[in-house]
Amino acid sequence: MAKTAISPTRAENYPEWYQQVIKGADLAENSDVRGCMVIKPWGYAIWENIQRRLDTMFKATGHENAYFPLFIPMSFLEKEAEHVEGFAKECAVVTHHRLEPDGKGGLQPAPSAKLDEPLIVRPTSETIIGATFARWVQSYRDLPILINQWANVVRWELRTRMFLRTTEFLWQEGHTVHATEEEARAETRQMLDVYAQFAEQHMAMPVIKGEKTAGERFPGAVATYSIEAMMQDRKALQAGTSHFLGQNFAKAQDIKFQNQAGEVQLAWTTSWGVSTRLVGGLIMTHADDDGLVLPPKLAPAHVVVLPMYKSDEERAEVLKYVGELKSGLEAQQYDGEPVRVRIDDRDLRGGDKKWQWVRRGVPLRVEIGPRDLADGAFPVSRRDSSERGPKMSAAQFIEAAPGLLAEIQQSLFDRANAERQAATQTIDSLKDFDAFFAEGAPGGLAYCHFTDGPEMEAHCKALKVTPRCVPIDGEAEAGKCIFSGAPSEKRALFARAY
Ligand code: AMP
Repeated sequence: MAKTAISPTRAENYPEWYQQVIKGADLAENSDVRGCMVIKPWGYAIWENIQRRLDTMFKATGHENAYFPLFIPMSFLEKEAEHVEGFAKECAVVTHHRLEPDGKGGLQPAPSAKLDEPLIVRPTSETIIGATFARWVQSYRDLPILINQWANVVRWELRTRMFLRTTEFLWQEGHTVHATEEEARAETRQMLDVYAQFAEQHMAMPVIKGEKTAGERFPGAVATYSIEAMMQDRKALQAGTSHFLGQNFAKAQDIKFQNQAGEVQLAWTTSWGVSTRLVGGLIMTHADDDGLVLPPKLAPAHVVVLPMYKSDEERAEVLKYVGELKSGLEAQQYDGEPVRVRIDDRDLRGGDKKWQWVRRGVPLRVEIGPRDLADGAFPVSRRDSSERGPKMSAAQFIEAAPGLLAEIQQSLFDRANAERQAATQTIDSLKDFDAFFAEGAPGGLAYCHFTDGPEMEAHCKALKVTPRCVPIDGEAEAGKCIFSGAPSEKRALFARAY
């Protein structure tokens, strides 16, 4: 068997492979705080690229950024009954504002510094932002309000996994207020489309857009939509959500406005978010047994150049050549920005250096030594294929780089899409459903007729499967619920999920 840069391989132990890819690519590490991770520079650079691209898309659809408090008074959460029920189980609560010596050489919260009202560390900000919006909105002229916040949030998750589910995570949360139901529903769907477009075009991660079933809805929402992706172990990942909140939060937070006829009306609100979970999705969609594979659009470096030499004289010569190569590449544009180039001239053995960059997933790699200088050409390696590409001259490579990056971006999407297709089935009987998700079977994504309710939920729960969403692009089709036999007009997507 060929030696791989990551051990174990995906086939040997998928969850452990995931942790080792993160370690090998130097993306993040576990911290001293349970469930919280340290995002290292390479991982953070990917997040920054995600942020920058999404931010541009939010602004292009009329949204502005703002910032709201990290703390939420406990009474704010109490106002929306379903919301509090959903989040109460996983809240970090601040009760004191000072520490004092405990008399045993340690510290304790000072009893005299107890807060009159506990503060919640935001698990999501509908309540505090809603209370603010109530002050901002008076008349129909103040609407719509289209706000996004980039922030950290805390949900006291019991089972955590780096990027996919952490106690503290980074995200963006969009919050909007509208005069009409129609407009709020359109906003909810628009942002779902923005997420789907980002996932497919930038992350090269195919997704299914759909509406969540009642049991999977955001606490307090009227309707929750999500984009669902399939990871290489055939499990689904909810990669982003967009909520139509109806008038529930407007009622709880008193967001009212005077319409054109002078009548006071309750407003309609939405919220939508994606998080650092996307980095986990990126890893699990594209990484292989040699480590991370980055879609060029989000890669912190597009090209890594590894100069090789023995003597000082060779060093001077090679560095001059690669310096010129870097300038030439940077004058080229890919995806509307200069090509991003790293030269790694660290004093490390060539093989070690090469494998570090393979594990970090850089799309294009070139190794250049005195012999290549003499040849006037060097080999170009693509991270998305194990073959070493043909030799190219500097001029040829500079010219070809944007096209190669575009090819890699497309090939990653095509590969993920083909894998998803191969793992997707339309299932029409409970027997086939049970076999599809049986222990030891490969599993995957199953489209089935269903009726939302306890019968479906109980059957799925026993198989550790969940309804992921009811696809919105799916056509209405008459059939029978596989769980109850009742007539059904639509199929839902079922899968095991992260
Ligand atoms: P929600 O507010 O629950 O709709 O979540 C918004 C986004 O954050 C979704 O895309 C979730 O997938 C993601 N998310 C939820 N919980 C976590 C977590 N513990 N760690 C990372 N991402 C999360």
